[in-house]
Amino acid sequence: MLNADLHCHSTVSDGMLPPEALAARAKTNGVELWALTDHDEVGGLVAARHAAHAEGLSFVPGVEISITWAGHTVHIVGLQIDPFCPALVEGLAQTRSGRTRRAQEMADALAQAGVAGAYEGALQYVGNPELISRTHFARYMVEAGICPSVNAVFESYLSDGKPGYVPHRWATLEDAIEWIHAAGGQAVIAHPGRYKMTALQHDSLFDRFKELGGEGVEVTTGSHTPAQYETYAGLARRYGLLASRGSDFHGPSESRVDLGKLPPLPDSVTPIWRGW
Ligand code: AMP
Ligand code: MN
Ligand code: MN
Ligand code: MN
Repeated sequence: MLNADLHCHSTVSDGMLPPEALAARAKTNGVELWALTDHDEVGGLVAARHAAHAEGLSFVPGVEISITWAGHTVHIVGLQIDPFCPALVEGLAQTRSGRTRRAQEMADALAQAGVAGAYEGALQYVGNPELISRTHFARYMVEAGICPSVNAVFESYLSDGKPGYVPHRWATLEDAIEWIHAAGGQAVIAHPGRYKMTALQHDSLFDRFKELGGEGVEVTTGSHTPAQYETYAGLARRYGLLASRGSDFHGPSESRVDLGKLPPLPDSVTPIWRGW
């Protein structure tokens, strides 16, 4: 099967490598079809496409949109999008606009929890001033010796319910799918195994996503266990959704799975790239 990796992050959002270095790494790792999917941002896609083509790599322009659904933060990946589509560009700019304020509130909450200077600390890791994320705080707190790993920072401080967590209202599911479709792309539910929802909420997310014309679901992702590959392959079939595969690579020292290194999709699903 084609080695497609359709989910990763550059320094334009919360990844550690610039688009050019990601393209080179994807090539080295045997990726044949590669998408860059920065959080709420398409600013890296022109450089990524250029670098991919220079490496002889097929490129898919992508994005990962943060939405709030039934009180949960959910991520919707858009693939084969036109990065210049005004509805998408404006929608994403609006989604990004609350991040700086949220980061200041996070820093205040962390100060209350005994972590001083977190805003300035996180800023040192930010590559795009419009895209300050929890990941940047986590990197600073590891460097400051507060926790041993980014994952540990999330577990102790930054996950929902922890002292540095600030609830945030992102875009709606309807908006995200509309923007992706306006840009000629396909919408994919990212890493569904990660959402801590009730079974009812989980099923309603899929029902509503289908109703709105969503096309795909990530089956094989760096966030899923092998058992979840099978669970979501079954769900993709049941809902008539196409299947996607993506490492969600953020950086060499941080990500469990490297670009192109996931197992192939289960045979029982239809890969989203089959129709491209
Ligand atoms: P934000 O968009 O600012 O809420 O940050 C979300 C990002 O935080 C995700 O895209 C991941 O990169 C990262 N993240 C979330 N949970 C964890 C975790 N448990 N361990 C490591 N990184 C995480
Ligand atoms: Mn991320
Ligand atoms: Mn995500
Ligand atoms: Mn991601």
